[in-house]
Amino acid sequence: MPELPEVETVKRTLNTLIHGKRIQKVTVRLPRIIRRPDDITIFAHMLEGHTIQTVERRGKFLRFLLDGLVLVSHLRMEGRYGLYAEGDPLDKHSHVIFHFDDGTELRYTDVRQFGTMDLFLPGEDLLQQPLKNLGLEPLSPDFTAEAFKALLAGKNTKIKPLLLNQAYVVGIGNIYVDESLHAAGIHPERAAGSLTDEQIVRLHDSIVDTLTNAVNAGGSSVKSYVNGQGESGSYQHKLRIYGRKDEPCYTCGSKVEKSVVGGRGTHFCPSCQPPLLT
Ligand SMILES: [Zn+2]
Repeated sequence: MPELPEVETVKRTLNTLIHGKRIQKVTVRLPRIIRRPDDITIFAHMLEGHTIQTVERRGKFLRFLLDGLVLVSHLRMEGRYGLYAEGDPLDKHSHVIFHFDDGTELRYTDVRQFGTMDLFLPGEDLLQQPLKNLGLEPLSPDFTAEAFKALLAGKNTKIKPLLLNQAYVVGIGNIYVDESLHAAGIHPERAAGSLTDEQIVRLHDSIVDTLTNAVNAGGSSVKSYVNGQGESGSYQHKLRIYGRKDEPCYTCGSKVEKSVVGGRGTHFCPSCQPPLLT
């Protein structure tokens, strides 16, 4: 599933590809992708004639800002966007097509069919689901070590599932949570509220550094994920713990372990990330 760095990469790519394009027509080939409005004819009709001004990101969601509308899109497992010329061969998994008046088309393709789109009037989207209860943006100035400490205070939840909960900090998924915890030397099952001040600062900094480095690398392409231009990100070559079960830890040489934490496959080094306070 694309996480913050991958969605950020898609956002930046889309801004270079579709900025200023005017939607002439919308074709919805798989109605379940569209959640709001619940009538796909109305969805398509509302978008006709509107121009894409910019694309922004909130957590793992893309926000297409048009003149007078906001389209909120979540890629989920394998959703992706691509720009094509009218008449290019159509993939059977291209479910929503935005036809522009310059003869190009933005196609949303999703093999797993879990992606979603919600259409709002400006100002409505941040106040309603799916965006309204989202937590802090980890690459914004609001995400300070102090703010992070306040989120963790008194929580008995294990640190990994807390970090995956988008109501606290947004954009972190299974890959970058394992990388951040490893970089900070914190066991994924530690109770969130049990971290020392020093560990909180270390984890805060490792989250910011990990996500920043991944954004700069264009994200990861661990499975079939590619960005909006069809190019793979390169951060998968820099992963230090994720996907390295039974391989030696780059820091200490111990065998990387994999367990299940909060229902998610979890990679950690038993020496660098001890389960107890260090
Ligand atoms: Zn280690």
